[in-house]
Amino acid sequence: KSCENRDIWAMKVSDNVAVNETDEPDILYMGMHHAREWMTVEVPIYFLNYLVNNYGTDPEITYLVDNRELWIIPMVNPDGYQYSRDVDSNWRKNRRDNGDSTFGVDLNRNYNGSQNGDSSGAWGGSGASDITSADTYCGPEPFSEPCTQAIRDLVIEHASNSNKFILSVSYHSYAEDIYYPWGYATSATTTSPDWQLQRRIAENLSTYNGYTVMQSGDTYLTTGDTDDWIYGYSKYVLGDPTYPFTIELDTSFQPPTSQIPITCEKHIGVNLYLAEIADNPAQEYPVITHTPLLDTKNTTGPYTAIANITSNIGLNSSALKLVWRTGTVSDTTVTLSPTGNPDEYYADIPGQSDGTWFYYYIYTEDSGGNKSTSPETEVWESQNYYKFYVGEDRVTYTVYNLAPNATKTVNLTVTSLATALPEEVANIKVIVTS
Ligand SMILES: [Zn+2]
Repeated sequence: KSCENRDIWAMKVSDNVAVNETDEPDILYMGMHHAREWMTVEVPIYFLNYLVNNYGTDPEITYLVDNRELWIIPMVNPDGYQYSRDVDSNWRKNRRDNGDSTFGVDLNRNYNGSQNGDSSGAWGGSGASDITSADTYCGPEPFSEPCTQAIRDLVIEHASNSNKFILSVSYHSYAEDIYYPWGYATSATTTSPDWQLQRRIAENLSTYNGYTVMQSGDTYLTTGDTDDWIYGYSKYVLGDPTYPFTIELDTSFQPPTSQIPITCEKHIGVNLYLAEIADNPAQEYPVITHTPLLDTKNTTGPYTAIANITSNIGLNSSALKLVWRTGTVSDTTVTLSPTGNPDEYYADIPGQSDGTWFYYYIYTEDSGGNKSTSPETEVWESQNYYKFYVGEDRVTYTVYNLAPNATKTVNLTVTSLATALPEEVANIKVIVTS
């Protein structure tokens, strides 16, 4: 409940929502810490609607909902929002009665600082004001406000239920920026111990919205913001970081309504990406480089597939495989062996008779159990295969020499054999030779 007794809604989207499924990574999406930033409630609501509408039909959405716990809090500051709608559209804070005829605490200055022992990152420092009338008034003490307490309690409750949030995003406006911690310091003075990964994730998010990536403190210093607390608490109190991001939407607090679907649509990809990487935020996967085998007339074999496989954390050498099949026959698995060259592995596949389509993929795992395949396949897709053809050329053709402006009718009958596959097609080609 807010100061004025409004509900702060948190929506959980997952399968088995009544159950805390600790094997499913949790992601926290927040909007509207600041009252006048109206778009920041649209983006999470739109995302919620998108998930619900596409569950069961879109394989990616279905997979993510079934295998993640997505927590969406579209409006952290309902009192301020209502006031910004009814009275003052430029209102930023909540509606706390400060007791001195001023109102409001800046919720994004009311969290408990950076938690890393650096006093300059503590609540009430740079970028926060202790003047009650100020727009960045940080409140009488950290977490003085029910709205920030609600976020704090949710984050702590998740951690103590073995379901710590892996990633979070807090939507603000405006700037078209993506921020990662710290907010209390510039990158020139203090970076977070995880800044490289934080930055890498932020840059990947930027591929969806095109926003500028920077350490939060490089735009202006803040203390007591959501992200410094979530990161600091998880990293220094729990010893296991959550990766929080702040995204500053748009180029004004209240863009025209025509901008709503544009901004919301742009952030579907951002929000899905956070959900997607939540099982492995570092995105450490074995890297496979492989030149696919080509069509061959060799029916005796073997066909030797060679792949270069590397991993930053080390490969599970007993889990390196080549999986193959012909036609629709079921898969056969062959273990990849080292060729003797660094990082190079091979597998021999037996020869096949003339007219065989051959399908295969390479499967790898690292020592952390992270999997990858070549060709790449998303977990919600059915496996992609390379393919090649064993046998003589299958191209047959008839040539008609036609006079200029001549008309020729060609009748084609395409017979699909039992073994025919979609790759076998008919073409009519017209070549002008003079
Ligand atoms: Zn804001």
